[in-house]
Amino acid sequence: MSDAEDFPPVNPAQDGEPIIRPQPAAAAGWSAVRSSLSYTWSQAGVGRGRALLRLNQTDGFDCPGCAWPDPQRRAVTEFCENGARAMADEATQRRVGPSFFATYSLDELLQRSDQWLNAQGRLTHPMYRAPGTNHYQPISWDKAFETIATTLNGLESPHQAVFYTSGRTSNEAAFLYQAFVRMFGTNNLPDCSNLCHESSGYGLSESIGIGKGTVSLEDFSKASVIVVIGQNPGTNHPRMLSALQEAKLGGAKIISINPLEEVGLTRFKHPQRLIDMVGRGTALADLHLPVRVGGDYALLCAIQKSLLEREAKAPATVLSEDFIEHRTQGFEEFKAFLATLDMDRLLADAGVSASDIEMASELLARSSGTIVCWAMGITQHHNGVANVQAIVNLLLMGGHFGRPGAGACPVRGHSNVQGDRTVGIWEKLPPWGDVLGRKLQFSPPQETGFDVVGAIEAMQAGRTGVLVAMGGNFLSASPDTERVAAGLRQQRLTVYVSTKLNRSHLVPGAAGLILPCLGRSDQDVQPGGKQFVTVENSMGIVSRSQGSLPPPSDQLLSEPRIVARMAEATLKDSTVDWTDLADDYDRIRDLISSVVPGFEDYNQQVRGSHGFSLPNPVHAGQFPLPGGRARFHVHELPDLQLARGRFWLTTLRSHDQFNTTIYTANDRYRGVYGHRWVVLMSEEDMVSLDLEPLAKVEIVSHYHGVQRRLSGFSAVPYGIPRGNVACYFPEANPLIPWDSFAVGSRTPTSKRVEVSIRGTSIGS
Ligand code: SF4
Repeated sequence: MSDAEDFPPVNPAQDGEPIIRPQPAAAAGWSAVRSSLSYTWSQAGVGRGRALLRLNQTDGFDCPGCAWPDPQRRAVTEFCENGARAMADEATQRRVGPSFFATYSLDELLQRSDQWLNAQGRLTHPMYRAPGTNHYQPISWDKAFETIATTLNGLESPHQAVFYTSGRTSNEAAFLYQAFVRMFGTNNLPDCSNLCHESSGYGLSESIGIGKGTVSLEDFSKASVIVVIGQNPGTNHPRMLSALQEAKLGGAKIISINPLEEVGLTRFKHPQRLIDMVGRGTALADLHLPVRVGGDYALLCAIQKSLLEREAKAPATVLSEDFIEHRTQGFEEFKAFLATLDMDRLLADAGVSASDIEMASELLARSSGTIVCWAMGITQHHNGVANVQAIVNLLLMGGHFGRPGAGACPVRGHSNVQGDRTVGIWEKLPPWGDVLGRKLQFSPPQETGFDVVGAIEAMQAGRTGVLVAMGGNFLSASPDTERVAAGLRQQRLTVYVSTKLNRSHLVPGAAGLILPCLGRSDQDVQPGGKQFVTVENSMGIVSRSQGSLPPPSDQLLSEPRIVARMAEATLKDSTVDWTDLADDYDRIRDLISSVVPGFEDYNQQVRGSHGFSLPNPVHAGQFPLPGGRARFHVHELPDLQLARGRFWLTTLRSHDQFNTTIYTANDRYRGVYGHRWVVLMSEEDMVSLDLEPLAKVEIVSHYHGVQRRLSGFSAVPYGIPRGNVACYFPEANPLIPWDSFAVGSRTPTSKRVEVSIRGTSIGS
């Protein structure tokens, strides 16, 4: 077994240091307009850049960025800065073809930054890396599919193959993919949801009976209090700021809970509101609670205790007694549990003051409709599921489900991550699995397959031989980069279906394939004519997406076509006419209609101007749980104690990246420019370690007696609670242990890992 130590780091620290400038007073505004236009101009040019006008339009294509919903009434420019960049990144005029791979060896490419790799352009030809070679070579599509089929069918068991999915994959491609994989004989279907909102799906399913959010975009303008916890919408879901601004101007109060006071929740200048662009914009958060890393559960319990105390002083003024009595279960146990908690311990763990808690509970106690929004800051913890269920407890106390302006809002970070799960991308056989089996005449595998953590473990242990990845950047998105790389190298074959070059391609198995596919903005023409695909946003709305740009190469295939050809080549005895399905996606949708609940008359429904909403019983006030009652849950407080000289590390995204795609090395909203190998620390902690600003440091993570070391970071003084430090991912991912994950959901704990830091600069 090859070991991580046998190889140089797969993502070496880049030389140099950051330039630190003041943070802007407001998010978006002119700088967002400038950055959108300059990136679009530099990548796509004017010609292909015009596709921006079709981005998120009802007859256009869905943004390949996050999963924030589109409003009923679309603006002419219905996108944010990061949406523009995601589109321009895909519409780039630059190309990566055979000559590129002839020029650059894998070893040379590994020395390059993620930003440089991404900037090389769109992949144009299927490429193959033969065993023992250091360059990818061109390969024909026929030969590529033959290689995949031979290797898959050469495995001793179908469970030795792993089929990963990134959230960009459309419903049509994802449904076809899961059908192919299950017909091949396994449920090894890990996906990027395992890395992000799995704790949300798991926690919500247990508490309210559905693993999705329960609000619509329209609910935001009806809410009286909106809590944004463990989320940085200014960077990761920027159009959400428009909804927050509208709510705020309508009288709503906003509470921000995050270790960092992010500009995006402080003030917003809507680029399409002249008054904002000439003025100071709209202040958003009324209250910011700088919770310590890992302190969310304690903070939510402190607020709930305060609400109960208010209720005790003024009965029936805070709690929704009728709702609690008739619609929930477990309230008395929950109340008794809170009574056992010491408020001082809660405040210490949360890192906030009693008056902060009082201000928050004051706002919540008077709320006629509360929405709580969250993202990775809640889910990527050992107690990620407990955090989600504490949020639900807070909402249940006030009866904030099943009415306008109220509910749970986990905001998905990838355009179709929710849709992929809905159409079967899951390591478990969906409830409709046997319907699928009858429809396609096969016996679906019943045993649970690998999620991402399971796949990483099995790859390292040599229990798998093939990885097929639909989109994404498995290596960089995963924790424990070097160990994942060691596992990937052990594969007989790695196959990446991709639009652009990324670091995963550079760590192939013995043999490697890169299969270039059409992007969301590309025109997709099949024998059945021009095709559209469909996606599901964070609020359960399924809509069309139809690209309009000429594809960057005539060698590209669509994702559904690639899956169909893989299945045809691999499943020799299959009765399914895969080619026919890929010839016209209406046929795939008809198949989905006949198998997946909620997609009845799919082709007709989705041709409506705004798509259609999937059934969401909780939005209608019903809890699909035994007795029709939602459930309060209680969990032990996490132990946040640290040994002397240790810190809790949290990883985060800069403003100029989308997941593992790095647009530039700048992070404008945090005032960090030109370099990504930085660790944000409080000034007091830097003084305690005798570190000068920008001093070079080594960071060591400590987990179950195992240390993971990474050097080359510049220490940057920043507004973050003492004892907490922050780094960007994927640079810091080698420090995140693969076997450190959330209880229940197995989401990697990228938001809290114990580390120590030491200066490496001369004299430090
Ligand atoms: S908010 Fe998200 S989906 Fe909307 S344009 Fe921006 S990145 Fe795209």
